[in-house]
Amino acid sequence: MRVGIGYDIHRLVEGRPLILGGVPVAYEKGLLGHSDADVLVHAVCDALLGAAGLGDIGMHFPDSDPQYKDISSLKLLSKTCRMVTAKGFRIVNLDCILFAEAPKLGAHRHEMQATIAKAMNIKPEEVNIKATTTEGLGMIGKGEGIGAMCVALIE
Ligand SMILES: [Zn+2]
Repeated sequence: MRVGIGYDIHRLVEGRPLILGGVPVAYEKGLLGHSDADVLVHAVCDALLGAAGLGDIGMHFPDSDPQYKDISSLKLLSKTCRMVTAKGFRIVNLDCILFAEAPKLGAHRHEMQATIAKAMNIKPEEVNIKATTTEGLGMIGKGEGIGAMCVALIE
């Protein structure tokens, strides 16, 4: 058994769609990034790569590479899973936290779990997603960005 942790944060800006866990979320702003800036999926990728001893997301999918411009991060997640399973590991489960002051994300949790599980070829019950605010504190609390954390267990 091996465990890995992933953390990511992206800035919220106007004129971008908000994609979290592969699910479009209706909101006045979206996350800024080279890909679709899906902060939750990036944290999942980093947790999986960490667990497998494969480095981090920036090593495998550099944001200087034009092939990743505006790409769905679910594609990066599927590639990440293939790298992890190619090393002989099986994914046991993920536990994730989204940090966002707004919008409210609870209603999207099940769809995010199902979408991430599908991209990873695992069961939705093996993906747990929690959402929390930061009680108005710091840059996330001021609505300047959204953060995500993930722990992945593989065997
Ligand atoms: Zn990211």
